[in-house]
Amino acid sequence: MDRYDRQIKFPPFGREGQQKLQNLHAFIMGVGALGSGIAEQLVRSGIKKITIVDKDIVSLTNLHRQSGYTEADVETMMPKVFALKQHLSAMNHEVEIEPLNEEITARNIVGILEEVKPDIVLDGLDQFETRYLMNEATRQLNIPYIYGAVIGSQVSVFPIDKDGPCLNCVMPDVPETMESCDVYGVLPPAVHLTSSLVVSELFYYLMHGTFSYKMVTMDIYKGTMRSTSIKALKEEDCEVCGHHNYPRLAHRELDQLRLLCGGVYQIRLNPDYFEKPLQEDVHTLLKNPFIKRLKYKTYDMTLYQDGRLLIYNVDDSKNAQNMVSQLFN
Ligand SMILES: [Zn+2]
Repeated sequence: MDRYDRQIKFPPFGREGQQKLQNLHAFIMGVGALGSGIAEQLVRSGIKKITIVDKDIVSLTNLHRQSGYTEADVETMMPKVFALKQHLSAMNHEVEIEPLNEEITARNIVGILEEVKPDIVLDGLDQFETRYLMNEATRQLNIPYIYGAVIGSQVSVFPIDKDGPCLNCVMPDVPETMESCDVYGVLPPAVHLTSSLVVSELFYYLMHGTFSYKMVTMDIYKGTMRSTSIKALKEEDCEVCGHHNYPRLAHRELDQLRLLCGGVYQIRLNPDYFEKPLQEDVHTLLKNPFIKRLKYKTYDMTLYQDGRLLIYNVDDSKNAQNMVSQLFN
């Protein structure tokens, strides 16, 4: 019996839907909770190929919601894309899985999409800046994109292509509450709902040959759910999809210092530091070819091979910068 028998038996999907899925290449941007959930559903359903992109390793605080990973991945400090590929291949060896262990920025996003040539981009991101970059890159290259976001208990999913509004039409600026992952946290069922709604929109697209052009929002704390048409939200005067200007892609400077979720500071060093000997009082607790876990006095740090240094339990940006200039000069 065909392993996809149950979904093929759903008449509107049928063999034709399965055939379309088996010819589809999806680019999943970020494989934290959202992206790993999306990837698992698509691999089990028999998609042709997925390209998965992420720059992080698996950490213990991921495991409460990121169903693609295990405690063993935390112990080995495995980059998410490699750990996920291993788990997904065991679920369905027929699907081609291409991992990209990279940070996506304004400098590389268009080039990566041009090289990968996906049929569709799916949102597995946990922060808005990269979503706006992806909105511009997919509008520039005319690739359909399904947006999905979750914060706290709130879920929001809608499709983007040339015929509907883009992210910039719907939300010209990052909503103030949206970046505050520390304040709002995230509930696992909200994440799994979001992954499922993204995949649902993709299945709608396969079955109807077009998007639904609906935004679905849910709040699992309030117990509310809405589905609204978004076509009327398209702004003819939108800088991105109306005038084809891409200001965020044009801004190619990378932040040297950033405060990440969890009160962690990220500082960019020259990638050479990954191989250089460290000062005596900096201790290497663990290392693999991708990262080193370091300890200096009471501070914990993670150094990536691309030069990103994460500093934990430091009180402010000044202290973080002072420490780095002492240790890495
Ligand atoms: Zn627009």
